[in-house]
Amino acid sequence: MNTHKKPVIFCDFDGTITENDNIIAIMKHFQPAGWEQIVEKIMNKEISIRQGVGDLFALLPSEKKQDIVTFAIEQARIRDGFEALLQYCQQEEISFYVTSGGIDFFVYPLLAPYPIEKEHIFCNGSSFEGETIQITWPHACDAHCTNDCGMCKTKIMRSFDQAAYDRILIGDSITDFAGAKLADLVFARSYLKTQCEKEGIPYIAYEDFHTVVEALKTRKASASVKPSV
Ligand SMILES: [Mg+2]
Ligand SMILES: [Zn+2]
Repeated sequence: MNTHKKPVIFCDFDGTITENDNIIAIMKHFQPAGWEQIVEKIMNKEISIRQGVGDLFALLPSEKKQDIVTFAIEQARIRDGFEALLQYCQQEEISFYVTSGGIDFFVYPLLAPYPIEKEHIFCNGSSFEGETIQITWPHACDAHCTNDCGMCKTKIMRSFDQAAYDRILIGDSITDFAGAKLADLVFARSYLKTQCEKEGIPYIAYEDFHTVVEALKTRKASASVKPSV
């Protein structure tokens, strides 16, 4: 690790900050016909994440808004150690960004109890104006990304020059993989872990954020040991 680089964390939301994927939880609960096939197509990369997530929410009527929002917020559990990680970042002056492919109506309320500036939270938007829910894409891919991500994590990461920043990614799934290839350090669980293994991308496994804090401390300690001349 280059100690002159400023550390910045890009942390996924669904399945990372929250224990489960909230989009999947919503689909499992409300069971709109056809949702499982759409998820399968996303995982098989037959359709892009933007297309798939848009199609999933288009299955849900806008008039169910209140039920869906309430359910999403009530079912979510924040992963253990999240507060400790935020505290550590504050103490060590590590910038912390939430880079989420999730939707505004559950991401912002679930993060509201934590000291994270709104400008540091990136996620998709939503509209309940039409007959079915429409997902809006305020952070879609730029010319450098052809993944059609929906919320483009690599676009956000690229805005932090790799020569100046030590880019740390925390994630769990398919939406984190492109970012993992850009990162200086990857924390992975679940699908992302398997994928990093397959592609030979080094990672640190985590199941809670205490593990992440410990690994960051160890890494900092080993980086600050000056080689003897
Ligand atoms: Mg995730
Ligand atoms: Zn993208």
